Amino acid sequence: MILAVDGPTASGKGTIAKALAGHFGLPHLDTGLLYRAVGRQVTLSDGDPDSESDALAACDFPDSLLADPELRSEASGGMASRVSIHPEVRRALYERQRKFATQPGGAVLDGRDIGTVIAPEAEVKLFVIASLEARAQRRFAEMRAAGREATLEAITADLAARDERDTSRNTAPLVAAKDAVTLDTSDLDRDQAVARAIAIVEKRVRS
Ligand code: C5P
Repeated sequence: MILAVDGPTASGKGTIAKALAGHFGLPHLDTGLLYRAVGRQVTLSDGDPDSESDALAACDFPDSLLADPELRSEASGGMASRVSIHPEVRRALYERQRKFATQPGGAVLDGRDIGTVIAPEAEVKLFVIASLEARAQRRFAEMRAAGREATLEAITADLAARDERDTSRNTAPLVAAKDAVTLDTSDLDRDQAVARAIAIVEKRVRS
């Protein structure tokens, strides 16, 4: 069974995907981490994230980079959203994601284009959304808890800029698949959101 979980940054899709993987006993891939690693590799190589050839060269990043805590930073998220615009970068990362999605027994993947491009045949597609305000508040609380400097205004502006880039790019923009179920987590806490997601999957699988 393939479960595709797509949605914007800080919508709760990563938490939901991880919980679904635990609940249904499936392996999980956070595909955003791959784009973050490409962005980080561009920085480490002194490249230009807006240059398609620099970003493509960075797709050869070493696997060890995926464990770099710096990938979780807002700066890496911003770089990821810039390198992910390039069609060649998306093509270079496609096989890796496709292989993960089609492994025997199934998988859970979260990202932006899992239900539309990587695994259009997924049995269940969730499109997780939340208001910009709710997402910014969550990210702000996470950063404060991690002892990182941030202002709510800066986070809101950054999320809005990333939403704009992710939804307006020509290749694989962030858009709900036609057969996706939308889950709005704006007014839900973690446990409520996870319970809703599990209920959606169970209902889809039974029908
Ligand atoms: O999900 P996360 O915030 O880690 O993703 C970082 C960036 O990587 C996103 O803003 C998006 O531009 C890009 N991305 C993508 N396609 C995916 C996953 C992430 O374009 N499947």
